[in-house]
Amino acid sequence: MSSQAPDRTPRVVIIGAGIAGVQTAVALREQGWRDAITLLGDEPHPPYDRPPLSKAVLLGKADGSAFDVDFEGLGIELHLGRRVTALTPDRRQVETSEGPVRYDHAVIATGADPVMLPGSQGLPGVHLLRTLDDAERLRPVLAAQHEIVVVGAGWIGAEFATAAREAGCAVTVVEAADRPLAGALPAEVAAHMTGWYAGAGAELRTGARVASV
Ligand SMILES: Cc1cc2nc3c(=O)[nH]c(=O)nc-3n(C[C@H](O)[C@H](O)[C@H](O)COP(=O)(O)OP(=O)(O)OC[C@H]3O[C@@H](n4cnc5c(N)ncnc54)[C@H](O)[C@@H]3O)c2cc1C
Repeated sequence: MSSQAPDRTPRVVIIGAGIAGVQTAVALREQGWRDAITLLGDEPHPPYDRPPLSKAVLLGKADGSAFDVDFEGLGIELHLGRRVTALTPDRRQVETSEGPVRYDHAVIATGADPVMLPGSQGLPGVHLLRTLDDAERLRPVLAAQHEIVVVGAGWIGAEFATAAREAGCAVTVVEAADRPLAGALPAEVAAHMTGWYAGAGAELRTGARVASV
């Protein structure tokens, strides 16, 4: 009876194939890590950059924004559509939808999720903008020139509002704080940003916290 020896090659497992996960994998190779690198991403698409999602991809000026990285050439094992469900540190393995993966080092690069509004999950006409699939779902919405309410006057809200105006939609932006970008910039800088909305022809309502949808 022959039994296969377990794979003991030193292995870095990176959870999350966003820019942080991809750059970690590439930097490990560039800086001399010669052993195994496994990159696990739960999305089905080849790893992509998110900034174009609220700009060119949303407006149909680009089909995607995949990173220009030769994963195979760099010896990075890329597994897409594979969600990590748990970490079992005493066995040094991550649990995934398709079985466990052993690690010597695990890097958690899972990013952040947008805040869901109470009662909004699964409602027709209510969208998030975080993934390539979200941007593709939103393209025809803009093309149909619907009336749009954007919740949140941060960077992504501002970009989305600008793109929606460019597509010919009527846009109202609601923001809980008393000014746009309150969490990111001091008042004197953010004050200039208020003009963006008027300039784009979007209505901005500040001090307007959404209670539910
Ligand atoms: C629409 C949009 C526009 C943006 N525009 C800009 C911009 O113009 N300038 C700028 O600086 N920043 C911008 N950002 C922010 C920037 O994209 C983020 O800062 C960046 O994506 C963070 O990278 P990350 O790799 O840490 O996380 P993410 O990009 O969130 O990647 C994490 C990945 O991990 C995956 N994942 C999560 N949990 C698991 C799991 N359990 N198992 C496997 N995989 C998992 C996620 O699905 C995701 O693919 C924008 C973001 C969005 C959404």
